[in-house]
Amino acid sequence: MAYTRDIYRRVQDELLRRRDTALSEAQARREEVHRRNGELKVLDAALSHTAMHLFEAATSGANAKARMEEVRRENEALLAARVELLADMGLPADYTEVHYTCPACSDTGYVLTSMCACQRKLLQLEALRAGGVANTETQTFESFDLDYYNDTPAIRHRMEQNLAAAKEYCEDFTPAKGNLLLMGGTGLGKTHLSTAIALRVIEQGYPVIYETVQAVLADFEYDRFRNSYSTEEGRAEKYLEVPLLILDDLGTEFSSQFTVSCLYQLVNTRLVRGLATVISTNLTVQEIQERYDARLTSRFLGEYRVLQFLGTDVRLQKR
Ligand SMILES: [Zn+2]
Repeated sequence: MAYTRDIYRRVQDELLRRRDTALSEAQARREEVHRRNGELKVLDAALSHTAMHLFEAATSGANAKARMEEVRRENEALLAARVELLADMGLPADYTEVHYTCPACSDTGYVLTSMCACQRKLLQLEALRAGGVANTETQTFESFDLDYYNDTPAIRHRMEQNLAAAKEYCEDFTPAKGNLLLMGGTGLGKTHLSTAIALRVIEQGYPVIYETVQAVLADFEYDRFRNSYSTEEGRAEKYLEVPLLILDDLGTEFSSQFTVSCLYQLVNTRLVRGLATVISTNLTVQEIQERYDARLTSRFLGEYRVLQFLGTDVRLQKR
């Protein structure tokens, strides 16, 4: 997937921040053990001369090989002594090592010349934020609070099932996982669960696009009036290809023959290609039937698992 320069820059900043943090925390742990244990400090000073001693040995003429072997043995003895001193303090052998967020790439974002999976995920996450999904920190499965749905035991039970279904959808995600239709009024947690799904799927390394139906249709519209000689790639193409598309706010778009036909093309192409789609809407089943033609309605109601959101607007309860 293509990312803007801004997204790349933010990811580079984040990787740099991770490296800096890892290095300064390791340095702080080192200073801490030196303060607590003078012997270890002396030992580290001796270890810091190993490279110089090796160089001297290597250039010591006829005895070079034997001298180098001796330096290596000394170094190993010092390292073993160091592990023991740390153990005496109740600390693991790697206590003063640098602990990177991603050990595979040491938070550089690359393993040799290939982009590391951690950088790919960061790019995805930044793209999600750039696309207007603001609550990537707070809207997780863990923070989905079922206590807002205690209106009746039946409502509570339904929402428990919705949460479980959304989690299950993300478990061992593949684009063949099927489709979800999140139905229900405003403020009942549809956006929260959509964001949580996006995050969980990105975590597994799959590209995700999260967009409002209006914005998606605007891109179809743009492509429609684009100069047919243009070599520029169509803007709507990505919605037909991304492994998981999350479409927000179905039913808020201006409805015309063109938009209904675009939606059908989008929904149907993704079904044919076996790609996963999650759609949220305030519309009721009856409103869907009134608003869209029979072909589209039968896709929604036949090929999507419907999760009905019930309760009282959470935002009003929070006030
Ligand atoms: Zn990495």
